[in-house]
Amino acid sequence: MSHALVVATHNRGKLDELRALLSGLDVQVLSIQEVSKKEINVVEDGDTFEANAIKKAKEVSAHTMMLTIADDSGLEVDALGGAPGVRSARFAGERATDAENNAALLAALDSLDVDATGARTGSPSYKARFRCVLALVDPFVRDGEPFVVEGTCEGNITRTPRGSGGFGYDPLFLVDGKEKTMAELGEAEKNEISHRGRAFEKLRLVLEKVLAERDVATRKVTG
Ligand code: IMP
Repeated sequence: MSHALVVATHNRGKLDELRALLSGLDVQVLSIQEVSKKEINVVEDGDTFEANAIKKAKEVSAHTMMLTIADDSGLEVDALGGAPGVRSARFAGERATDAENNAALLAALDSLDVDATGARTGSPSYKARFRCVLALVDPFVRDGEPFVVEGTCEGNITRTPRGSGGFGYDPLFLVDGKEKTMAELGEAEKNEISHRGRAFEKLRLVLEKVLAERDVATRKVTG
């Protein structure tokens, strides 16, 4: 029995990756636009990925009364004190494009790269990680309390963008243990090692259990 599941995001890259991750499960994956004529724009004002993921999942599920997954994710650069962090999507300003955010990231690193006299100190490698928090809400289970999981992927920021896959900061992110940026990996390869793929592996068992419970409940109602 296939169950409808809403992915609470307006980000095309995330939606595509989550669709691929969910493809082995008995769910019909729907975007917000497919389930609601009214625009649902959740204000992401939390200080943590977790707070934002929970807020998105709860609001979209309360609006649609459907099983909902939300993703809040971003890039943390150690030398920038964890920035862009929860501001990853708008590091260069509200409604910034991926190219603008990438340029803002490189500019922020360039400004770290000079000493007190203004001389360039060379091109150190900047340690970074992608972090993803996924929240799953079933409005009919646990009073809509979310199941929350997290995944990370470690790497370094390169000053020379490479690759055309993925989205966001992928062309600047050199994955630890690979000679490639995230944008040079195919979708399946990225999902195997990415923050989102790792978070999803933790959610898979919970989701399978929720779907099985929904099957039982549906059978009881339909006799
Ligand atoms: P959110 O929609 O507030 O969660 O913002 C997520 C932002 O983090 C995106 O717009 C990207 O800039 C960045 N981001 C998250 N996941 C990825 C990824 O897998 N690759 C590259 N950038 C990502």
